[in-house]
Amino acid sequence: ANPIFATLPTTIFEEMSGLARALGAINLGQGFPDDPGPEAVRAKAAEAVLNGYNQYPPMAGLPELRQAVARHYARTQGLDLDWEHEVTVTSGATEALASAFLGLIEPGDEVIVFQPLYDAYVPLIRRAGGVPKLVRLSPPEWRFDRAMLEAAFTERTRLVVLNNPINPTGVVLPEEDLALLAEFCVRHDAVAICDEVWEQVVFAPARHRPLIGLPGMRGRCVKIGSAGKMFGLTGWKVGFLCAAPALTRTLARTHQFLTFTTPPNLQAAVAFGLETGEAWFAEMPGRLAASRDRLTEELRREGFAVLPSQGTYFLNLDLPASGIDLADREFALRAVQEAGVASIPVSALYEEAPVTTILRLCFSKSDETLDEGVRRLARAR
Ligand code: PMP
Ligand code: GLN
Repeated sequence: ANPIFATLPTTIFEEMSGLARALGAINLGQGFPDDPGPEAVRAKAAEAVLNGYNQYPPMAGLPELRQAVARHYARTQGLDLDWEHEVTVTSGATEALASAFLGLIEPGDEVIVFQPLYDAYVPLIRRAGGVPKLVRLSPPEWRFDRAMLEAAFTERTRLVVLNNPINPTGVVLPEEDLALLAEFCVRHDAVAICDEVWEQVVFAPARHRPLIGLPGMRGRCVKIGSAGKMFGLTGWKVGFLCAAPALTRTLARTHQFLTFTTPPNLQAAVAFGLETGEAWFAEMPGRLAASRDRLTEELRREGFAVLPSQGTYFLNLDLPASGIDLADREFALRAVQEAGVASIPVSALYEEAPVTTILRLCFSKSDETLDEGVRRLARAR
């Protein structure tokens, strides 16, 4: 077996969801909503299956979806993407990430990654021959600064991975942080892999700004999106790669031999969702913000200390400030095994020198589930 993968534990998301399934626990771990998602989009997928969208679509994706993606980003983020040469449909953001790392990294290239990180990044970077350069962020602010970037960037820096809005921290980066990172990318001639899968799950007054829209970044960003997150249909695994034509041509080489194509019926439904989704995109963040607020209030009532969340499905508990002196993983195991509620210990999302004091909770759930989850967490203290 390849040692990079053979030595890995099972991803924390599957570990915790597996425990939740086995123990019949409430699952506030892995990020997925418990409502069924927009009915018109699901109906469109069913109709597409029945009406013949079932053979190989074009390798780069259905033209109707690529056009819809370009129009969506023009409307919502002011971007000017050429759908024919700058938009590729992938099988989830995960495949987009794999295509980007395998396509753009040459052996020995350094790739800057911020911790806590989405756990797919480092194994894929290593398998591509890249050398991860980790920038460690800490609670409660989780911000990076100029000194951290000075220490991370070298003449061997090829890529920077920026997840924004950020899973697991719930931070939506302000423009000044993006501008600082852009300055380093330009100075070091680095490409930014922009994992923006949570771009649509941002709570006012926070606002998502795509790094590709900053000065100097248009030709050096690979912007990654996910329909699963846009529509709360996380099992759909329809993703987007958006990048300048030269980068897109390179990514097409890896995409063609990772998955080649993505189920066309789901692509058709996502295209429909993007073209008709104005009301959904207007309503969904407010509904999730209400769930975030409910979970926050209930947790505080029980004496838990909660960090702010500006986006994603997640908020974080500060365990020591909540009077809990167990490490996050120990507390998460106790909570699922003894109290019946699953969560994600954020230490699992560090590659080295983990912060062990933070527990991630998913709030894209019904009020009853959130309330019961808090009752159970309180029993686990
Ligand atoms: N990146 C981040 C930051 C994520 O949170 C997720 C989903 N959990 C992904 C990538 C993967 O997205 P997809 O399901 O579309 O592959
Ligand atoms: N993105 C989701 C999360 O962070 C699920 C990730 C996964 O299951 N791989 O919980």
